[in-house]
Amino acid sequence: MGEFELIRRYFQFSTAEGDLLELGVGDDCALLNIPPNNQLAVTCDTLVAGVHFPADGPAGLIAHRALRVNLSDLAAMGAEPLGFFLALTLPECDDPWLASFSEGLAFDAARFNCPLMGGDTTRGPLSMTLTALGATPRGQALKRAGAREGERIFVTGCLGDARAGLLCIEEGRASSDLVDRYWQPTPQLTAGILLRNYASAALDISDGLLQDVGHIASASGLEAVIFAEQLPLSKSLLALVGHDKARLWGLSAGDDYELCFSVPAPRVAAMAQALSAAGISVTEIGQMRRPTHSGRAVRCIDAQGRDMIFEAEGYDHFAC
Ligand code: ADP
Ligand code: MG
Repeated sequence: MGEFELIRRYFQFSTAEGDLLELGVGDDCALLNIPPNNQLAVTCDTLVAGVHFPADGPAGLIAHRALRVNLSDLAAMGAEPLGFFLALTLPECDDPWLASFSEGLAFDAARFNCPLMGGDTTRGPLSMTLTALGATPRGQALKRAGAREGERIFVTGCLGDARAGLLCIEEGRASSDLVDRYWQPTPQLTAGILLRNYASAALDISDGLLQDVGHIASASGLEAVIFAEQLPLSKSLLALVGHDKARLWGLSAGDDYELCFSVPAPRVAAMAQALSAAGISVTEIGQMRRPTHSGRAVRCIDAQGRDMIFEAEGYDHFAC
């Protein structure tokens, strides 16, 4: 099978051309008609085998994770998915692998209403770079900058589960619900769209809460104060590793892809009601404060009101 047959067989599944997608896979470029009065939100994430996912993981699950981490970035901006591009590098043409990768990708593309619009296929060590496109009404995207002093900090869902899922995968305990949280994170697209009406700043937690909330604080010129005891931790996580480690992972492990956002106090009640009506759980975990002379972006406080000090606040590919 040659390159073009491979593309036709495995990556031409999104044929639903319509008002939005005038031309998809098969030409030199895709042609898109962007909805009027919208802004295009564009994000790109690379996943390298052995770095971002276990290289021997099931191909269908690798596909789920690859698309969902990109959709999570759209969610964090309050954008609605339009479609995505896939640059795939493969060591060989492995039909069963490609078939389950393609099936997983097609399933999620349909589920999240995000067609595959094009890409590139090359030979080399297994890695994939996805570019996702989304739309937000002009001027309404949720940025990292924009939080104000006194605002409340929230997260969706629970934190730390994906890290525990990875531990289960590494130890061969495949049946835990935590494993799903690692392979199939839920991009919080509905939450992101609703939060356009309430949040002043937002991001998705990919590298660890403390590090990521620090990005909101820095971009907004503030200090984020996080109350560690308020962190939402799942029963499964607590049962697996106990309170202390669960809390540590909730604070600093990545891969959960929940949203973290800042809301002005007068809008908190309406926000909580809107998200709960949509079946989305949110937890207040901290507050935006005026920066202190310490210059740090994040402070984390324990149940006794003491500052917690960490060696690393999150994942950093180039940490020295
Ligand atoms: P070109 O040489 O003009 O860049 P290619 O031969 O690389 O085009 O690709 C042919 C068509 O197939 C293009 O429409 C491209 O977007 C699409 N394509 C290539 N690889 C993939 C892939 N992995 N997933 C989806 N579409 C792909
Ligand atoms: Mg071309």
